[in-house]
Amino acid sequence: MLERGEVANSWRYERWDSLRLLTPNWQCRLPGVHYEGPDPDGYMTMAEVVEVIERFAAPALARVRTGTNVTSVRRTDDGYQVLTSRGEIRCRAVVLASGACNRPTTPSFADAVPATVEQLTPFSYRDPSHLPDGGVLVVGASATGVQLAAEVRRSGRPVILSVGEHVRLPRTYRGRDVLWWMDASGVWDQRYDEVDDLTRARRLPSPQLVGTPERGTLDLNALSEMGVELVGRWAAVRDGRALFSGGLRNVCSLADLKMNRLLGVFDEWAAAGESREEFDPPDRLAPTQVPASPRLQLDLLSGEIRAIVWATGFRPDYRWLEVPVLDAKGQLRHDGGVADSPGLYALGLPVLRRRRSTFIHGIEDDAREVIEHLTRFLATGPLGLAGDPGLGIVREQVDRIR
Ligand SMILES: Cc1cc2nc3c(=O)[nH]c(=O)nc-3n(C[C@H](O)[C@H](O)[C@H](O)COP(=O)(O)OP(=O)(O)OC[C@H]3O[C@@H](n4cnc5c(N)ncnc54)[C@H](O)[C@@H]3O)c2cc1C
Repeated sequence: MLERGEVANSWRYERWDSLRLLTPNWQCRLPGVHYEGPDPDGYMTMAEVVEVIERFAAPALARVRTGTNVTSVRRTDDGYQVLTSRGEIRCRAVVLASGACNRPTTPSFADAVPATVEQLTPFSYRDPSHLPDGGVLVVGASATGVQLAAEVRRSGRPVILSVGEHVRLPRTYRGRDVLWWMDASGVWDQRYDEVDDLTRARRLPSPQLVGTPERGTLDLNALSEMGVELVGRWAAVRDGRALFSGGLRNVCSLADLKMNRLLGVFDEWAAAGESREEFDPPDRLAPTQVPASPRLQLDLLSGEIRAIVWATGFRPDYRWLEVPVLDAKGQLRHDGGVADSPGLYALGLPVLRRRRSTFIHGIEDDAREVIEHLTRFLATGPLGLAGDPGLGIVREQVDRIR
């Protein structure tokens, strides 16, 4: 296992200070490592996540070679040549587990933003004290955007939030965490080959959720109440002005509709009596309150806003992958983690094999299935099952995951 930084690198260095997981503690599980603390319904801080991953990595049979940056992966006649900052490795199979969120995404028009406005991404933002004084425009209203908009607003700054397509969810529903319902009702078990529009499912924005001790809902209504101004999707920059889409009402109605549809699925599941638990009665959040005429332009040179925080998503970084398995958008083409190049696999990507794949606890089933495929691949290779030096380790890993 090659890791360019340290174990749990992304959680150590690529997250802002106040972040907590949005999945509850009981759900943050890895094979053999389950939450055993006093607060199963709480949400882990980054230090706690690092501790969980370290606990898992310590007894792992595969040695983690930290500080080893992979700079190139190339196909050879009998496998792959992997160049790293610590030398070359030849192998028959490669599992890409380099993450889905290596780089923040920003729109191309970010280059047209005047230099007087500071630009940050979730990788460079740490806390509001590092922002210049004055107004802040947060772009993107998924988990990252709503969390940062709330935090910056609490620091006393004026905040404008640019809202595109988003997934609205209440933090709790009928007395349970909304992610408990996703789990219990089987929504997260839906397999990738059963999803109608897989490309869309894999690009779905993260839900508007935050993990706080109060377990409060952080939707656009909550942000409006805090004094955050909502505007539509940021579409372009012209003559130093940000131009926002006029479709704010539509995207909000759509998010409300989809949320209510999902809650309806939970209600149906509860009514079917699959669970012996007692739940609070069904209820619905108030529709999203949209300003009567949200502004369509913002003069970026006026000084009204001094900083922009791009919360417009993340993407993987495969600049080192020299095997032709990427699509035009730079995403890996794969079938449930099996890439279109013999012996090349992937883990840790959104909806890899199931909807839960997007989250930490999705890895267990995915890893088992992908590694089973990999084991079969190695067994059919020129060296055969017994002769392959790497296979003993793979087998031990599979047993361990089981
Ligand atoms: C802001 C944010 C919040 C999230 N919140 C939650 C949450 O609340 N709950 C949840 O379950 N999931 C959450 N996720 C999703 C979660 O990050 C993933 O499910 C999980 O981290 C995937 O783990 P991974 O090991 O596949 O990827 P990563 O955690 O991204 O790890 C990939 C590793 O590969 C290393 N690497 C990359 N390129 C190279 C290279 N060329 N050479 C060597 N090493 C390399 C990186 O340094 C990194 O350590 C969140 C994601 C983000 C971005």
